[in-house]
Amino acid sequence: MSHSILLLPGDGIGPEVVQQARRVLEHVADKHGLSIELAEGDLGGIAIDRQGAAYPDATRALARQADAILLGAVGGPKWDSLPPAERAERGLLAIRADLDLFANLRPAILFPQLASASSLKAELVAGLDILIVRELTGGIYFGEPRGIRERDDGEREGFNTYIYRESEIERIAALAFELAAKRGGRLTSVDKANVLEVTMLWREVVERVAQNHPDVALDHIYVDNAAMQLVRAPKQFDVLVTGNIFGDILSDTAAMLTGSIGMLPSASLNEQSRGLYEPVHGSAPDIAGQNKANPLATILSVAMMLRYSLDAPAAADDIEAAVSAVLDDGLRTGDIAEAGASIVGTVEMGDAVIAALN
Ligand code: NAD
Repeated sequence: MSHSILLLPGDGIGPEVVQQARRVLEHVADKHGLSIELAEGDLGGIAIDRQGAAYPDATRALARQADAILLGAVGGPKWDSLPPAERAERGLLAIRADLDLFANLRPAILFPQLASASSLKAELVAGLDILIVRELTGGIYFGEPRGIRERDDGEREGFNTYIYRESEIERIAALAFELAAKRGGRLTSVDKANVLEVTMLWREVVERVAQNHPDVALDHIYVDNAAMQLVRAPKQFDVLVTGNIFGDILSDTAAMLTGSIGMLPSASLNEQSRGLYEPVHGSAPDIAGQNKANPLATILSVAMMLRYSLDAPAAADDIEAAVSAVLDDGLRTGDIAEAGASIVGTVEMGDAVIAALN
């Protein structure tokens, strides 16, 4: 069976890191006898420039028939002055909603070779292996009504709606319990149930789903405490499940625990396990086009794709082992290098991973 994979390089460093990940994917597919067909499309700012919309029809058609999608990153200063509804980042929100990618999986694993790159003390983070499961298609980022309006007194006000249906909470909770059962058997649900009614309902529904999973130990934590605990003693967590906006923020905090946002992959899945795979980082306009970006987050996203959408766990393991071997050899891009260390570029890092696969 052949797998159709859509590449969406996007903006900024996106094309540079996707190019390296593509080489790794082609290499590992060849090595493991996987048949893949690659297509490429536009998303984000480049799609606005070429096709007049951040998620154009041509991309939508390709995305709907792909088994899996690999995305670089979208957005950049060039498109920041557009009206909110037309901005590059809207392309990402639109494709997530279109494919009903309701679950975002963000592992924060600290490669032992990088323990000293973390901003926390090595003993707090060495061996860290947590998974943040973020609801991705609901909550305040999508709630209606939303907008900026003028009040009767002439002052303007901005407003958004934080809303979750029971069924939306149920399916993300069920997935989080399943993932926790396969890992350390502990799930922490993050909310703000002391203040926000929407997350009072969240907590109630998570408790209900827990009854189907007696094998998993569930606890609840307020989001402010979760932020604090993540930097105080992150290893206390196994799997965290939370809504869209809290997950957005906490997963970036978790990113720093590992030393670099340039190391973190993510997966966004729908109910059929078709998925969009992308690095956690953005388009990094400050280093775009300079062969400075760390491609490992995108390469590790390919490993997640092989594991979750293409049912090729051996190939996924192979990529992760190759990344670890490259780190063992001391190769570092700027974002993960200690002061005074020699630094390799995006392409050299890709070359090294491919060499390690051989
Ligand atoms: P960013 O992640 O792009 O960059 C933050 C910092 O991390 C920068 O200093 C950057 O140089 C560095 N960095 C990021 N990825 C790196 C990598 N692979 N290797 C080395 N260094 C790396 O976040 P930002 O600056 O807040 O946003 C820049 C643009 O990206 C904005 O337009 C934003 O909207 C967009 N963005 C897109 C996504 C996405 O596509 N999923 C996510 C976040 C931000």
